[in-house]
Amino acid sequence: MYHCADCALHACDRMQADQMPQGCPGRYEHMDDVRAEYRKDENYRFGQVCSEVSMSRGGPKPRILEFIDVAKRCGYRKIGLAFCIGFAREAKTLTRVLEYHGFEVESVICKVGGIDKSLQGIENGGNAMCNPIAQARLLNERGTEFNIALGLCVGHDSLFFKYSDAPVTVLAAKDKVLAHNPVAALYQADGYYRDILFPPGEKCARQTAGEEKEK
Ligand code: SF4
Repeated sequence: MYHCADCALHACDRMQADQMPQGCPGRYEHMDDVRAEYRKDENYRFGQVCSEVSMSRGGPKPRILEFIDVAKRCGYRKIGLAFCIGFAREAKTLTRVLEYHGFEVESVICKVGGIDKSLQGIENGGNAMCNPIAQARLLNERGTEFNIALGLCVGHDSLFFKYSDAPVTVLAAKDKVLAHNPVAALYQADGYYRDILFPPGEKCARQTAGEEKEK
């Protein structure tokens, strides 16, 4: 198992190979193959621009401006926007902003096609199922160069990523309780959310695996 999440050394960030701990995934024997992927034409410029923008030279910017920066520097003109119906107003505003910055925007709502949830064996509650596969395919057919996922549900976003031809970035991750800021739950993991995130009586997988080994 890899345990970067428990590592406080972060020798990788300092590029100190000799300091990498036991079991460090940075010792991956195929890292040279990974390097070769970054050098491929299809990844080189995109990866380079994203790294430059992420360095926040000139000060941090809102994510939407970082998106615009990346898209402009990569020379993209046609942007795909896959959004949740609950974000219809935000999608409209986002389109206005992107068009102002010179982009063409193809937008597709999650309910496109109006397919009944019975397709997924779910009793219909009066509204259509989310249709991320169609969102991706429609944007693919329009030849969008860079796609935005705006507020798609957990897993529907995964299907959208799976079927999208263009690279996808997330502008907002839906969280129905926490104002679309899912990590807020983590900030309260040792406070008000402790019993929600760590329900009493349930053991963590790692603890259970350790006990199994001891048997
Ligand atoms: S890659 Fe290695 S050094 Fe970096 S966080 Fe993971 S375990 Fe730590």
